[in-house]
Amino acid sequence: MNIEEHVVLARYTTIGTGGPAAAFARPETLGDLEEALAWAGERGLPVATVGLGSNLLVADDGFDGVVLKLGGELATANVEDERLVAGGGAANAVCLHRARAAALGGFEFACAIPGTVGGGVWMNAGAYGSDWAAILERALVVDGDGPRWLTPAELGLSYRRSGLRRGQVVARADFRLAPRPVQEIKAKVAELQALRKAAQPTNKRTFGSVFKNPDHELSAGRMLEACGLKGHRIGGAQISPRHANFIENADGARSEDALALMAEARRRAHEQFGVELEHEVVFLGSLELPPV
Ligand SMILES: Cc1cc2nc3c(=O)[nH]c(=O)nc-3n(C[C@H](O)[C@H](O)[C@H](O)COP(=O)(O)OP(=O)(O)OC[C@H]3O[C@@H](n4cnc5c(N)ncnc54)[C@H](O)[C@@H]3O)c2cc1C
Repeated sequence: MNIEEHVVLARYTTIGTGGPAAAFARPETLGDLEEALAWAGERGLPVATVGLGSNLLVADDGFDGVVLKLGGELATANVEDERLVAGGGAANAVCLHRARAAALGGFEFACAIPGTVGGGVWMNAGAYGSDWAAILERALVVDGDGPRWLTPAELGLSYRRSGLRRGQVVARADFRLAPRPVQEIKAKVAELQALRKAAQPTNKRTFGSVFKNPDHELSAGRMLEACGLKGHRIGGAQISPRHANFIENADGARSEDALALMAEARRRAHEQFGVELEHEVVFLGSLELPPV
C-alpha cells in the first residue's frame, strides 16, 4: 500500500488548520489496514485515523506519526435486513441516505453531524436526544493485535466519549434500525436541520462544539456567551457571534489561534462560574491547554 510523506492535514479538517503528518495512508480493505498498522508498528510510530476531521484540531507543527484515512470498502454503507452495515470511513450523510432509501429510521439525529461512522464511535456522537450508543450493535475494531468485534458496552460509550485509544481503528460498524415511513424520516430530518440552522453557524469552517456541556444549569455555549465572548477574536480564529461554543476559522486561522481562544474561554468560565470546561474537540499532535 502506498504511504505518502508530509501530507498537510489542514486539507482533512473542517476548520482548515493543521500541519503535516509524518506518514499518511488510505487503506481500502481490512488487509490494507492491517498492513498499515504493521508498517507503523515496525517503526514504532503512533497511529491516528481521520474521518471527516469535523471534530479535530491538529497542531500547526503536525503529527509525528501515521495518519490513516479509510476509503474503498472501508467507507461503504449498505442495508441488510434492518441493519445498516457501514465501513468506519462511511460518511454519516451516506448512511442516512441508505437508511432512508430502505425506509429504516433511527439515524435521523445524525443528519446534522458532519462526520463518519468511525469518528462517531470514537466520540459517541449524538444530537437531539440520541447518540451512537443508542443504535450501534457492534463495531469491528482493528489494532496491532488484529480485528475484533466490540459491543457498545465493551467500547465504553458514554457522553461524547469512548474507551478507544489511538491506534485502534473502527473498520466497520453495524447499526440496528427500525422500519419507518420514508416521508416521516424526511420530515424529521427537515425539522432537525431547521433547528440546527436557527441555532448554530452552518456555513462557517468550525470543528463543532468546542467544549462538552458542564454539569451546570448553563450549557457551555450559554456560559461563554455570558462571559461576553461571542465574536472574540485571536489571530484568524473567532468565537462564533452566532453560538459561543463554536470557533470559526474567520480568516487564515492557525490551530494556535483556536487553542488560545479555548484557553481564554476556559479561564473566563472558571473565573465567572467556577467551572472547568472540558474540551470536546479532539487534539492531534502537541497541543495542550494551560491549567485554569
Ligand atoms: C458544524 C458541525 C456540527 C457538529 N455537530 C455535532 C453534533 O451535533 N453532535 C456531535 O456529537 N458532534 C458534532 N460535531 C462534531 C463531529 O462532527 C462529530 O464528533 C463526528 O462524529 C466526528 O466524526 P469525524 O469522522 O469527522 O471524526 P474526526 O474529526 O476525523 O476524528 C475525531 C476522532 O475520531 C477518531 N476517528 C475518526 N475515525 C476513526 C475510525 N475509523 N476509527 C477510530 N477512530 C477514528 C479520530 O482519530 C479522532 O480522535 C459537529 C461538527 C461540526 C463541524
